[in-house]
Amino acid sequence: MLFFIPREPDARERRVAATPETVGRLVEHEHAVAVEAGAGTEAAFTDEAFTAAGAQIVAAAAWDEADAVLTVGPIGPEIIEQLKTGCAAIGLLDPYSHQEEVKLLAKRGITSLALELVPRITRAQTMDALSSQASIAGYKAVLLAASRLGRYFPLLMTAAGTVPPSKVVIIGAGVAGLQAIATAKRLGAVVEVSDIRPAVKEQVQSLGGRYIEAPEAEAAEDEGGYAKEMGEDFLARQRELLARHIAAADVVITTAQVPGRPAPRIVSREMIEGMKPGSVVIDLAASSGGNCELTRADEEVNHDGVLILGPPNLAATMAHDASTLYARNILALVEHILDEGKLAIDAADDVQSGALLTHGGEIVNPSMRQLILGEAAAENQGSAGD
Ligand code: NAD
Repeated sequence: MLFFIPREPDARERRVAATPETVGRLVEHEHAVAVEAGAGTEAAFTDEAFTAAGAQIVAAAAWDEADAVLTVGPIGPEIIEQLKTGCAAIGLLDPYSHQEEVKLLAKRGITSLALELVPRITRAQTMDALSSQASIAGYKAVLLAASRLGRYFPLLMTAAGTVPPSKVVIIGAGVAGLQAIATAKRLGAVVEVSDIRPAVKEQVQSLGGRYIEAPEAEAAEDEGGYAKEMGEDFLARQRELLARHIAAADVVITTAQVPGRPAPRIVSREMIEGMKPGSVVIDLAASSGGNCELTRADEEVNHDGVLILGPPNLAATMAHDASTLYARNILALVEHILDEGKLAIDAADDVQSGALLTHGGEIVNPSMRQLILGEAAAENQGSAGD
């Protein structure tokens, strides 16, 4: 098979979907790998290193020749039109926000797999790109806050007097939030944490964070271990509980998400107005609507001296390690599907069927079929394809 690794079509995406290490593995499996010239430059992987690993560097994108294309981000319609029918496209394809592209991938007969749809089960941990990238975002969010805050994070006793430690409030203790707790603690801050899933409390405490009790709720967690979307009444009680913690905070990092839904609105304008000037808020949920009322995705907002940042893609700011881990995730998925040198989809395998977005001319992922085709149309398309 010929694998193609492009320079990411989004010019701000600094990560790359393969590294010399993972190219070497594909070559060991006797596949050919074409890497677009400069694909790894922003992530500090040179063309020479890819060549040494066995790749062929191509000056122009080889979308139309590849049997499989590996990407970091989604691919647009003009690229999908170029792909060979029957070829595989694998990446963080962001299907919820790219529904037209999903339809086109099906229409063009592309086998597409979205890494964000890989089930979060132990067997698929090596393929869990959401976790590898979220962990980087959590780490980078703390460093970003520390670099913009006019205060020390740790307690310092100096000849000129004692400096108290900064107080960091972290909202949402999933993968990004837990890494943010660990990083803020290493820098010496006092860390307080809010989440709504009961299982989180112990994890927060084991990292040295103080857990802020959540309002009572019948069930805040679904069967998959994810947070449920909570009603406005719950969120209002949560804001009330959090207000005094946020008023005392120097830094607030918000990471609260509910899969497939807009991010819950947790930090209100009044809460921001209650914070000290010079405080910093980093909203990692900015691209799904933001946890803070005043966040504007990809912009800096200064509200009465409180800085609110909504960086859209922090993982890309640490492109070398982000690419190293992402490339291993995508290779693990490819190796899971490869059978006698071909990508052979096994619909009975829950990892493959979970990640599979389009195949054989159809949208096959159940929740995407439901979303894009609607229930009746999805059933019709299903029976037409049987
Ligand atoms: P996420 O990005 O979907 O959400 C981040 C956090 O926001 C979650 O902890 C969630 O509970 C929290 N949240 C939602 N609404 C909130 C609110 N109103 N207030 C405060 N917090 C709120 O989560 P994620 O990082 O992708 O991880 C979610 C779950 O998946 C966790 O249980 C995690 O342990 C699990 N997980 C399992 C595996 C595995 O088994 N392979 C791998 C990774 C993650």
